[in-house]
Amino acid sequence: MLKVSESIRELVPYPPGKPKEELQRELGIEKSFKLASNESPLPPSPRAISAMMEALGEVNRYPDGSCYYLKERLAELLGVAFGNLVLVNGSNELIQLLAAILLAPGDEVVMSEPTFLMYSIAVRGQSGVPVKVPQRENRHDLEGLLAALSDRTRAVFIDNPLNPTGQIISGDELSGFVARLPEDVVLLLDEAYGDFVEREDFVSGLELFRDHPNVVVGRTFSKAYGLAGLRVAYGVASEEMISYLDRVRQPFNVNTLAQKAALAALGDQEYLENTLALISREKGRLYSEIERLGLDYIPSETNFFLIDLKREADPVFDALLYKGVIVRSMKSYGLPDYIRITVGTEEENSSFIAALAEVLEAG
Ligand SMILES: *Cc1c(COP(=O)(O)O)cnc(C)c1O
Repeated sequence: MLKVSESIRELVPYPPGKPKEELQRELGIEKSFKLASNESPLPPSPRAISAMMEALGEVNRYPDGSCYYLKERLAELLGVAFGNLVLVNGSNELIQLLAAILLAPGDEVVMSEPTFLMYSIAVRGQSGVPVKVPQRENRHDLEGLLAALSDRTRAVFIDNPLNPTGQIISGDELSGFVARLPEDVVLLLDEAYGDFVEREDFVSGLELFRDHPNVVVGRTFSKAYGLAGLRVAYGVASEEMISYLDRVRQPFNVNTLAQKAALAALGDQEYLENTLALISREKGRLYSEIERLGLDYIPSETNFFLIDLKREADPVFDALLYKGVIVRSMKSYGLPDYIRITVGTEEENSSFIAALAEVLEAG
């Protein structure tokens, strides 16, 4: 037997989806679409695509390890210093880097249950201990998270908005929480879905990190910007924190095409606004269709939401698969009656509703 560390042996890997073509072959169907991974249903901005095309001939060279131009543009847009930014290979890398710089074996990271699966995988990968606090009414239980702190706690990982429920922590709740968090406990505020939030009482961690050197804000190009396949995201934090993250990251962690595309995408505000408008409009339409089918849903501040099928969800999930609609079963999240769907294009959403109606009628 290989002598790998105990915590790695016990790890359950992140469940990868099958390629669409493979699934279609297995199920004997011709068409399918995925409303499962909270990606954007739209292709990237044409500006991002041409920036990548122009850069294709340069990939014989290593990428710019400092992400200079992308960092420069982000610093300007966010009103932060160069030294407050680290570019990463998707938020997943930021989460792993934090675990790497903070945790010795047995150290704890407090998080909600359920939340983004990568948090506990990253912590265990570093021989740390994820300490899980059940949600309260589908939201982060901030009192519960504080009560779970111990001498071994090195960080709290919070996604705001929260995946899989789509709920937010308000600005007031957040500043109250940060004020009570010990200064030597790091707070990751993962704002992967921050762009989609419409509620006025949402406040980004960007408002907090200056006064709180223990706060790290995570943002990504994977969701609203439609660049999930490129793997590019960033962290904003105190210069001290960034300097530690920079010590452990790979020198060329963000590839050339990703840097060029992200920079171009930041210059296409219209694309972003169109995407956000589509998601908001279609989410509203899906809500009413779900109601019409006699089901419940949890209203969400993101591009995904939970549907309460009021029956065991797995058979419905399977039947939808055979109709070529891939959604996310919430059984492994401890919500056996729920599915999570990502808002798709108008056409995809209509096909999903039609398929769901058929499945419910048949079952
Ligand atoms: C999708 C998602 C991310 C994005 O991860 P990337 O690695 O940037 O693609 C981060 N956090 C949460 C909670 C997510 O659901």
